[in-house]
Amino acid sequence: MSERKTTRFAVLEAERVVKVHEREIPALKADEVLIKNGACNICTTDYGQYTGARKNLMFPMAWGHEFAGTIVDMGSDVKEFEVGEMVGIGYDNCGECEFCKKGLTSECVTLGAGRNKLSPDGYHGGFGCSEYVIKPYRSLFKLNQNMDPSEAAFVEPVGTVCQGIRKLRVQQGEKIVVIGAGTMGVLNALVAKAEGCEVMITEMMDKKIEVAKELGLNVVDVKEKDPVEAVKEWTDGRGVDAVILAVGVTAANDQALEMIKRLHGRILMFAAGYPAPELHVDSNLIHYRKMELIGTFSADKCDFERAAELMREKKIDLSKLVEAKYKLDDVEQAFEAAIVPGAYRVSVVFD
Ligand SMILES: [Zn+2]
Ligand SMILES: [Zn+2]
Repeated sequence: MSERKTTRFAVLEAERVVKVHEREIPALKADEVLIKNGACNICTTDYGQYTGARKNLMFPMAWGHEFAGTIVDMGSDVKEFEVGEMVGIGYDNCGECEFCKKGLTSECVTLGAGRNKLSPDGYHGGFGCSEYVIKPYRSLFKLNQNMDPSEAAFVEPVGTVCQGIRKLRVQQGEKIVVIGAGTMGVLNALVAKAEGCEVMITEMMDKKIEVAKELGLNVVDVKEKDPVEAVKEWTDGRGVDAVILAVGVTAANDQALEMIKRLHGRILMFAAGYPAPELHVDSNLIHYRKMELIGTFSADKCDFERAAELMREKKIDLSKLVEAKYKLDDVEQAFEAAIVPGAYRVSVVFD
């Protein structure tokens, strides 16, 4: 049993107000694991609530869902893990409902309230940015012992990318364009490459272009070159097998339609946009060109497993996607760093 009785954690109290609170560590249920947190990264959703861009999330929010740490205690039913193991985190799921039984853990019936779920002590959220976190073992995925916790915290975002790549049914040697080299765009490009695709990524911000280059990606600076032209040259005029939209804007949607090959082209709508982007395509075009428009959101158990595997085997380099690290006491500065345009993941790290 862990010595610690209480844990400190970060709470979004209101727009632009994030503070550190303390609570008792609840007793472990039989299927639960106590994790000593290594790092919790600030996701777009988290800082969207901070800035007020996302109004559908409630306060006080014990935010944080991109984190990783070391197991320090376990309930009696947990057989798959050991104390001392480093784990990354996916989504909670009951393991018993009709969706979980089919492996569709992201559609688990117990997930209804999502991040707005209320704890008995009056907080919304999953307490991911906390020194100690309790999770059912079903939402944990094994990582390497010596992994940087800020990189290990990428299991969730990489899992969502793995779902998209799975739904896109990419095959070895296919040519894929990713539009947008933010954190999620780069992750999509890295995973597509790891799955054997040839990848081109398009971006306009110099900093992101630099990072994409450092990661060995084939990047098009759209300030210098029309991305549709670049794709035509790259494919001898044929167009690519698939486009992954990692930005949610109408102009990118229009480009994607011009980038795919004439027949059987696929477009993956990875990103949402606010306000909602439009897609200018008539259904005859989808019909005659046998086009596929594919949606993706969140991740299932198999996707987190693939993500953790890619991370364990070092098939994707996450080092460039950690923008900065802050201590829990400096969580307000961490949020201010996270909202700087072009920032990759800002990480709150624990001792
Ligand atoms: Zn996230
Ligand atoms: Zn379930």
